[in-house]
Amino acid sequence: EVPKQKHDYQSDVARMRKIVVNSLYSNQCEHFVRELLSNANDALEKLRIVSLTNKDIVDPSQPLNITIRAVKDEEGTGGRLIITDTGIGMSPDDLTRNLGTLAKSGTSEFLAKADSLDTSGGGNLIGQFGLGFYSSFLVADQVYVASIPTKSETNPEPAQYVFSSSADDSSFEIYPDPRGNTLGHGTEITLVIRPDASQFLNTDRLKELVEKHSSFSTAFPIYLLTQVTEEVIDEDTLTEDEPSTAEEPSAPSEESVLDDDDDVVVEEVSEEEVPTKEPKVTTVTVDKWAHLNEQPPLWMRDPKDVTNEQYIEFYKTTFKEDEAPLAWHHFQGESGDGIHFKSIIYIPHELNPEFWSKSTSDNKGVRLMVKRVFITNDLGDDALPKWASWLKVIVDADDLPLNVSRETLQSTRFLKTLRSFVIKHLIKLMTRIAQDDPDKYVEIIKVYGNAIKLGAVESTKERNRLAVLARWPTNLRNFTSLDEYYVNRRQGQKQVFFHAGVGATTENLAKSIFVEKVHARGYEVFLLSEPLDEILFTNLGQWQDIRFQDVAKKGLEFGDEEEDLEAEKAKDEELATRFQPLVDWLKQETKDVVIDVTLSKRLVTSPCAIVADTYGYSANMERIMNAQNA
Ligand code: ADP
Ligand code: MG
Repeated sequence: EVPKQKHDYQSDVARMRKIVVNSLYSNQCEHFVRELLSNANDALEKLRIVSLTNKDIVDPSQPLNITIRAVKDEEGTGGRLIITDTGIGMSPDDLTRNLGTLAKSGTSEFLAKADSLDTSGGGNLIGQFGLGFYSSFLVADQVYVASIPTKSETNPEPAQYVFSSSADDSSFEIYPDPRGNTLGHGTEITLVIRPDASQFLNTDRLKELVEKHSSFSTAFPIYLLTQVTEEVIDEDTLTEDEPSTAEEPSAPSEESVLDDDDDVVVEEVSEEEVPTKEPKVTTVTVDKWAHLNEQPPLWMRDPKDVTNEQYIEFYKTTFKEDEAPLAWHHFQGESGDGIHFKSIIYIPHELNPEFWSKSTSDNKGVRLMVKRVFITNDLGDDALPKWASWLKVIVDADDLPLNVSRETLQSTRFLKTLRSFVIKHLIKLMTRIAQDDPDKYVEIIKVYGNAIKLGAVESTKERNRLAVLARWPTNLRNFTSLDEYYVNRRQGQKQVFFHAGVGATTENLAKSIFVEKVHARGYEVFLLSEPLDEILFTNLGQWQDIRFQDVAKKGLEFGDEEEDLEAEKAKDEELATRFQPLVDWLKQETKDVVIDVTLSKRLVTSPCAIVADTYGYSANMERIMNAQNA
């Protein structure tokens, strides 16, 4: 009798289980496959990383892989599904901590959402939120997790333990595995499949699900125990006709793995033997490990062979995201210094609110692989510039050594090359969407517009290319680019007009007297309400051959002045004489607060305006400066 340790679940876990258990009716329950295989992949990746510095911990006779087998029970109504990985494994403490608590941020979000709907509403949310390990309960009444961690300094003699969920949902048990150490290292998850979920014991169905959800997201082989019929030659033809049932293979090995060549074995043997009498051939059913993901992982494939659904599934699993990305781009190429990359970049559906408040990022958005093997997702600020740190990237470089360290990466030009390569392709992706799918582009710009502007301000190298991607409202329309503005400029127009007011609404900016006059003459004016906007325009100085002009500053010029220059000159002189007394009087009255009083042609309906000197700060800049000094 083994001592069992009983633990109560945190209340959230029990709640989660209730929701999940009530959701079987929905077809969302198949997501448990994705979740468990993703955990297995994570565990294998962790082991591989540790084994780089400590070779002894991996048993060379134990290949890194994932195996799936279904064991139907006698009546055929239910059975067990067993998913095993030879990954890093878990100690009893790990089992308690990782599987007995809801550590995942996504799951509490899920609970909050599920609460706001009725309890049965959870089903529709499950596909969107990765429930992780808890998705097991979508299809299983009871779950056993047997696991044994790899040897470590603190745990030189690890033992295999079992986490066992109880039937009443309220607690779980942790105890030494009565079978002893059967795993070597790794984790075996046994799902006692509910009778109404027996479809998940069907190997064809399992194969389909693995192909749909997971075959492309892991570089480790996934094997499914499959029954195949084979013809065997009974050498002793006189023995009785007894169907031979093959032993259940314990783990896939070279010989036991099913591949296409297997079919020809019978013929070869029969030819070699040149039998004098007809050999007796019997058809038997044997268990073989079928390799499910013989195709390369998604990022290594030709984009032509990948469906949109696969890109989205891959993104969700790989980056642990619940919502589909806004866009992606799959490409390969060679950097100037001879490194070959295969890469997918994804634009997430929203910008993390911390993007603007955090100065450094603990960004895990860039996953570096070498020859399909995961190396690190901890390149942090070195992999992407701040303005693009929201990007999710998987990149496979085939020219790096597998044991490359972070230090090596930093000391070579690799990270710099990677960075400019990824940014180049992000710009390419955005440019393509802007051209081909303006609605989608607007959706992206609403989320990332300011990040793009930040990039244009911060990066002198990419300034112009990013400025092309930025959009602003004008007095005439929304989401206008500098290029569109330029193309639509009026004949003879010498300036790019803008009006800036931090925090002001576009509507209010459009109503300003400064805009009014320019608008009345039929010109387009950029209406800037973000602090970054004016800084960027100042940095740019000009677009193509025309300079930026703040309509609230001196120096405003229109291209159509010459048209009736003569008539206007006469009229100006007349007005100048007429209003000279008023101007003199105003100068006298306001001499302490303004530099000059002049007659102006800017205004259409407003009688007067106070403007900034050409070389002074605009009122808007002054507000920014004051805010900074405060
Ligand atoms: P997540 O994968 O997002 O962390 P899960 O609920 O899927 O959330 O898993 C919780 C944790 O349990 C994992 O972070 C991991 O530490 C542990 N875990 C789950 N499955 C395995 C496994 N097959 N091998 C090792 N650890 C695992
Ligand atoms: Mg997981």
